[in-house]
Amino acid sequence: MSVLPESIVALTSALSKLPGVGPRSAERIALHLVQTDSIAVKQLADVIVYAREHIQFCTTCGALTEKSPCPICDDIRRDSSLICIVERAVDILSVEKSGAFRGKFHVLGGTISPLNGVEPEDLRIAELEKRLTHEPIKEIVIALGTDVEGDATSFYLARRLAQKGLKVSRIAYGLPAGSGLEFADELTLSRALEGRREML
Ligand SMILES: [Zn+2]
Repeated sequence: MSVLPESIVALTSALSKLPGVGPRSAERIALHLVQTDSIAVKQLADVIVYAREHIQFCTTCGALTEKSPCPICDDIRRDSSLICIVERAVDILSVEKSGAFRGKFHVLGGTISPLNGVEPEDLRIAELEKRLTHEPIKEIVIALGTDVEGDATSFYLARRLAQKGLKVSRIAYGLPAGSGLEFADELTLSRALEGRREML
C-alpha cells in the first residue's frame, strides 16, 4: 500500500498517462502541485480546460486551430496551388519553423499500417481528393516520415492521386532512414523541402 494519500496517488496516476511523463516525474509533479498555492493550481487547471475546449481540427486541412478554417487555410498570401501532406497536425509546426514552405497543408492523420489496423480509409485521403476537385492545387508535396509506413503511404498516395496536370513530389530528408519530421532540425527540413523529388 502506498504511504501517499489516495488523492495524490490518483493525481500521479493521471499525470503518468501524459506523453513523456514517467512514474517518477508524475509523482514529483503531483507532490509539487499539492504544495503549490491553490490559486496557481486552479489557474493551471483552467488553462488546460480552456485550451481543450477551444481547440478543434480545421475541417479543411486538419490542423489544430481555434477557428475553422484555420488561419493558414484562410491566408490569401499563401500559395493555394501547393499542398504539403503531413502525418500529424503537429508536423505542420515543424514545416512552418523551417520557413521554406509557403503553400498550404493537409493532415493525413496517420500512415497506412495494416499490422496496426490502419487502412487508407482511416486516413483523411477522401478529404484531400475533395480538395483537389475545388481548390486550384497543382502540386502535392508529401512530407511523411522515412519509415516503412511513411514510404508505403507515400507510394500509395502518389498512385491514388495520379491525375493529369498534378505534380506529386516527396521531400528529400538528408536524415537516416526511419525517422519522422520531429527529428529534423529547421535547416535540414528546409533543404529537404527544396530538394523534393518528383514521384509523378
Ligand atoms: Zn486549415
